[in-house]
Amino acid sequence: MRVLVTGGAGYIGSVATAMLLERGFDVTVLDDCSTGHRDAVVAGAKFIEGSVSSEESLAFALSGCEAVFHFAAKSLVGESVEKPDLYFDVNVNGTKNLLKQMSLAKISKLVFSSTAATYGEPEVIPISESAKTDPTSPYGATKLAVDKLITEEAKSGLAAISLRYFNVAGAYKSKFGWLAERHNPETHLIPNLLRSTVDNSIKIFGDDWPTKDGTCIRDYIHVADLIDAHILALENLAPGKHQIINLGSGSGYSVAEVISAATKVLGRAIPVEITSRRSGDPAVLVADISLAGQALKWRPKFDIEKMVSDTWESANAQYRK
Ligand code: UDP
Repeated sequence: MRVLVTGGAGYIGSVATAMLLERGFDVTVLDDCSTGHRDAVVAGAKFIEGSVSSEESLAFALSGCEAVFHFAAKSLVGESVEKPDLYFDVNVNGTKNLLKQMSLAKISKLVFSSTAATYGEPEVIPISESAKTDPTSPYGATKLAVDKLITEEAKSGLAAISLRYFNVAGAYKSKFGWLAERHNPETHLIPNLLRSTVDNSIKIFGDDWPTKDGTCIRDYIHVADLIDAHILALENLAPGKHQIINLGSGSGYSVAEVISAATKVLGRAIPVEITSRRSGDPAVLVADISLAGQALKWRPKFDIEKMVSDTWESANAQYRK
């Protein structure tokens, strides 16, 4: 089976491409390389440089495919507040184009990259798929709008699963080499704290949150576990059905706990600086992952130390190149 991976030059899309190829699928990647990297498209995938904003590129990329993993999107919460129209255009209109071209090409299998940001500030922890959806950013709102579009499309036969990610982390050592986060600017905790040195400490955004140690709690999931769930999702699609499934580890780690895992991995103290809270950060986000267990027979394998150590190893491998 050939799978179209939109956004296959990005962090998560490149790992999806590699794992699909390793498991015997054929892969076409469609990416405009606006935030992704051409060299992250692994050998063995057919690469088409183009955007989901172009129906022509989509039609071309879909030829010969039976299913789609749709990752191509703008995904920075802060940027979405400044440029909501851009986010609406790429994320919502781009997906409308994709759904139209899939329908014309009679391709009816879709796994969509959704997000915990669709829920907004949680009322209950852990967050289940039945929690209210009230996104606090245009980014979350666009992903929620796409989930709703897909639900509508399923009424005409589309087989779809939206996977709502919590905090994706770690790197993947594929047979093509390491695939890791390379965002610019990098805002995520784990890559940032591995970069911290004596002169450049990691900033902790607030230590006065209502949590056990005062730092924010998040649910981190290894990117390889995440893609494992996508491949299981592909195998569990049902015509006319749109399922929405959370992906996290089901366990929360505070920023201080992530730093102590990183201290263990690095074998040295990490200099920290406590700064004020970052706007838009909720205190606690933890996924209820029971539905992923039931519907996909999936459970995460990798813990926070593995996420940190893989990120570290991949950075070192990059440095040695
Ligand atoms: N965080 C931090 N310092 C950083 C980056 C992140 O203290 O340099 C905190 C952030 O406030 C949040 C957690 O780490 O509580 C995870 O943030 P990240 O940006 O990695 O992911 P997000 O939860 O925003 O998707």
